[in-house]
Amino acid sequence: MFEIVTPPEPDKIIRLMGMFAADPRAGKVDLGVGVYRSPEGKTPVMAAVKSAEQRIWAAQESKSYVGLRGDLGFLDAMRRLILGESVSPDRVAAAGTPGGTGAVRQVLETVHRLNPSATVWISDPTWPNHPAIIDHLGQKRKTYRYYDAATGGIDRGGMLADLAKTARGDLILLHGCCHNPTGADLRSDDWREIAAICARTGAIPFVDMAYQGFGAGLEEDAQGLRHLATTLPEVLIAASCSKNFGLYRERVGVVLIVTDGKAAAEGVLAGMNRQNFAFPPDHGARVVQEILGDQALDAVWRNELERMRRAMEGNRRALAEALRAETGSDRFGFLAAHRGMFSLIGATPEQVERLRAEHGIYLVGDGRMNIAGLTQDTIPRVAQAIAQVLA
Ligand code: PMP
Repeated sequence: MFEIVTPPEPDKIIRLMGMFAADPRAGKVDLGVGVYRSPEGKTPVMAAVKSAEQRIWAAQESKSYVGLRGDLGFLDAMRRLILGESVSPDRVAAAGTPGGTGAVRQVLETVHRLNPSATVWISDPTWPNHPAIIDHLGQKRKTYRYYDAATGGIDRGGMLADLAKTARGDLILLHGCCHNPTGADLRSDDWREIAAICARTGAIPFVDMAYQGFGAGLEEDAQGLRHLATTLPEVLIAASCSKNFGLYRERVGVVLIVTDGKAAAEGVLAGMNRQNFAFPPDHGARVVQEILGDQALDAVWRNELERMRRAMEGNRRALAEALRAETGSDRFGFLAAHRGMFSLIGATPEQVERLRAEHGIYLVGDGRMNIAGLTQDTIPRVAQAIAQVLA
């Protein structure tokens, strides 16, 4: 069966991980793969997660199936975390999924089934898995202008002009915060404009929330999404606990659908889970539920998350400062204004390759840098190399 198949191109980030592992140089720096790293360069199990796992281990008496949408306590805790008090629980359908990717997939496949002629509008650029999943499903897609490389900010006029062309039932895929790969986030007036456009054209916002708590703070990062939820009849949300709970490999994600048709939406989501994997993974979801449901653990978690967020902000400031000193210009000042784990540094693929070959500095081919991969020790060297190669 497989003799006639050309294997698909390996994912560029996965390929980069392999190259980094095989690189024998002692001073190599991994700024590629999108995992948080502490100032010591570790991706630790968060303290609250360890405690929750201990409690679960001590108390859990069965690993029998739970339900097609996963554990209802987890879903409710995630609804609160993401939507707060912005909408009544009666208007929110929810289902657990394997990670944020699973949530994105379930949302897009649901739309593909219910409205195969809808166009999904994605930002230029976006996380490569967005177009990959849309294409895999055979749904139509278009891009809207988003990033302005000249300023390191958003091309607001271009974005709003493109989104005004959306049709009823189209999906507008937005990053809830910490835009991947650019690091340039929507401001509150952008969210308000987008809500107004959706109200006018009948397009439905689909918010991918993979980094809540990594941008400006847990509550702040959800404000744009909550504005859409309070003003529009329908909002689709795919959220991930990979980053903010450090539960990457446990695969914890959730689909939330803000709608007046809650019962129908939950039925559709349960059916969609059943077709694709039946029951969503439970362990990580239970860890999240345990943390969010216990005041003391919740406080420990929020503290650690805030420390991580501040460490990334510190890296941004330090790198921007080091680059100012190296280049004598404010060319890279946008790095300090960006939010979350990623920024595009404005390197061509050839420059990215030179950074790797000559300096052992690994970035994704589009010039995306994982800010969390920097440390106080590596920042001067990385700044020197960038200033030299991008001169
Ligand atoms: N959406 C975006 C924009 C992301 O960057 C990621 C993580 N790379 C995800 C979704 C999903 O992450 P995961 O499946 O690991 O939860």
